[in-house]
Amino acid sequence: MIQRLALLGVGLIGSSLVRALKEKQAVQHVVGYGRGEKNLQEALELGVIDEIATSVADAVDGADMVVVAVPLGAVKGLFAEMKGKLSENAVVTDVGSVKWSVVRDAQQVFTTVPPRLIPGHPIAGTEKSGAAASFAELYQGRRVILTPLDNRDEDALQKVTAMWELAGAEVVEMGVQHHDEVLAATSHLPHLLAYGLVDALARQDAHREIFRFAAGGFRDFSRIASSDPTMWRDIAMANRKPLLETLDQFRKELDEVESMIQDKDGDALLELFSRAKQARDEHYE
Ligand code: NAP
Repeated sequence: MIQRLALLGVGLIGSSLVRALKEKQAVQHVVGYGRGEKNLQEALELGVIDEIATSVADAVDGADMVVVAVPLGAVKGLFAEMKGKLSENAVVTDVGSVKWSVVRDAQQVFTTVPPRLIPGHPIAGTEKSGAAASFAELYQGRRVILTPLDNRDEDALQKVTAMWELAGAEVVEMGVQHHDEVLAATSHLPHLLAYGLVDALARQDAHREIFRFAAGGFRDFSRIASSDPTMWRDIAMANRKPLLETLDQFRKELDEVESMIQDKDGDALLELFSRAKQARDEHYE
């Protein structure tokens, strides 16, 4: 049972976590700290948080669990504000989509990553933002990746693991670099492609026609381009190197597809499409 949970960033990801914990009666009191007053008030009215804090210091005062759930560009500032204000038994975790930048931010603020800071990343979400978009079932049957460092405190790791399991997730552990490479390919690149495709089409003169006559495939593929632009700007900047590598590989694949079409090589195209279909069908229903 978490006595006092400080939620720094009361958005979709953090609010969904506390909703799930509240449903399981696994948290007694949630204090929220954020940016916009409107979202915080809404979170209070919805019962997501029990109290609004006006500073990070007030939010973390007496908290045994601190969850940092802001866009990556805001993490370092929050670390700086909580420095020297945390209780001795406080466990700190985050939900950021890139882990190296969180570790680097912690190193820069605290000199070494505090043993009771356990970096984390839930592999769940929607293209919606804010407390009002949150729901308790978001993590049911989903994975949460924790990237604990060598100096981690085992008790803190166990508490963060237990928290996510109570929220319905399966917890897996991974190295920081491995996490960032895997997520660059499976999440960050698809978002980049969706934003790029929608932008390219929207800037064409005939864009009204394109959006009007776009079939289900375009709608499915472009859904994630509705995600919060600040969050995705921060992710792309924080995961630059792995993202550039995976983008380079993908560009080569696109070049191959282009050559096949140019060469009227339908057999090669069929082979590529069949390989891709088989790979996808093997992993998803
Ligand atoms: P969100 O719904 O937009 O929530 C972020 C919250 O942080 C907002 O309420 C925002 O306040 C607040 N905030 C922004 N800057 C702040 C600052 N400087 N100080 C205090 N609060 C600040 O975003 P989210 O989807 O929950 O994402 C949060 C984190 O989760 C990100 O780091 C993202 O990488 C990670 N993540 C997201 C997903 C996903 O699919 N969405 C999945 C996994 C992980 P306002 O309400 O005033 O804007």
